Amino acid sequence: MLLLKPKSTQLCVSRLIFWQNCLRNLSTTSSHCSGKVNDEEDDDKDQKFCDTKENQQDPLYLYKSKGQHLLTNTRILDAIVRRSNVRPTDTVLEIGPGTGNLTVKLLEAAKRVVAIEIDKRMVDILHKRVAEKGLQDRLHVICKDAMKAEFPQFDLVVANIPYGISSPLVAKLVYGRNPFRSATLLLQKEFARRLLAKPGDSEFNRLAVNVKLVADVEFVMDVSKREFLPCPKVDSSVVMIRPKAQVPDVNLDEWWAFTRTCFRKKNKTLGATFKQKKKVIELLKLAKTALVCKDYESDDDYGGDNEEERTDEEDGFASSASDLEMTLFKEKIVGILRTGGFEDKRPSKLSNEELLHLLFLFNQAGIYFHDHVLPKGSDNVEFAAAYSS
Ligand code: SAH
Repeated sequence: MLLLKPKSTQLCVSRLIFWQNCLRNLSTTSSHCSGKVNDEEDDDKDQKFCDTKENQQDPLYLYKSKGQHLLTNTRILDAIVRRSNVRPTDTVLEIGPGTGNLTVKLLEAAKRVVAIEIDKRMVDILHKRVAEKGLQDRLHVICKDAMKAEFPQFDLVVANIPYGISSPLVAKLVYGRNPFRSATLLLQKEFARRLLAKPGDSEFNRLAVNVKLVADVEFVMDVSKREFLPCPKVDSSVVMIRPKAQVPDVNLDEWWAFTRTCFRKKNKTLGATFKQKKKVIELLKLAKTALVCKDYESDDDYGGDNEEERTDEEDGFASSASDLEMTLFKEKIVGILRTGGFEDKRPSKLSNEELLHLLFLFNQAGIYFHDHVLPKGSDNVEFAAAYSS
């Protein structure tokens, strides 16, 4: 009897490595889609890799919801490690090690690997596999959701990550507190294309803009979906993300809030975006809040622990805007766009330098995008959350 669970693929633990070896051999000689049972099989159905006659142990289900697609091609695993320039002194962070296909190779090249894996069953297999190779002293596994785990110090990230957390994970890495040399990530091809996109490309979006502010992204190679077990619906690409040595001097809360406004409708002209009544009201309110906050900051008597009172007061202050005030404020916004030559420009075609310049012009005129009442860095939380899928 087969044990099938919805949206999962069943593998026998005892035969897992055997399968991987077979598929590895297959994939080096041909490009069969690994593990397909029959041609009609749809990705949404369960796939059978072994039956109970062969299965003396509990079956291992691979869950799509956890992005469990194991990379089986040794040549590609080797190429990823090689292209990552791992040094023998490096601590490598791996997100989603799964059964350890990449981990064992990283352990052979690095001083230490810290692997963060959400699935306890994978952790057990990983420990066993690494112990069999005598490499256990150099592996530290954190059994947690990578989005909730605190990352330790590391030199490099090398990982075939679960694609469902691509955006928030990239955001967490590039805007995190840990300095690192590079992150070599296997990503869904479409997602990788967006990270690599330049102003004017159809894939260019807010994530690309925000990542580009602090890091350079380089294409490494494409990887066919046929190299994974089970075979996913989409192809993949490897990219390398390198934090920039020099990050522009900009308030990040302001930058994230600004790019959120600009890229909500990335192909709309900035004139059209900023002339919307809703946007004018919002920015006027933020400008007034910023003014009040500045007053509070310069007030020696202010203790700083009555946040709520301040917020209420500012809300009342902002809602009292007259039509004349609104008109003047809108003219101020349009004036900035015009003098900077931005009124007819579309954000999807602007470079980061141009966007930084526009933000500078706005801030200089007392127009802000981040709510100054929110604690510092709160947009960072929002930033990662906005990119969760
Ligand atoms: N790197 C392995 C496995 C890739 S599959 C290989 O290339 O073969 C993705 C792995 O990420 C799975 O083991 C899955 O359990 C794990 N995973 C999924 N969501 C995760 C999360 N939020 N945090 C950490 N690991 C996660």
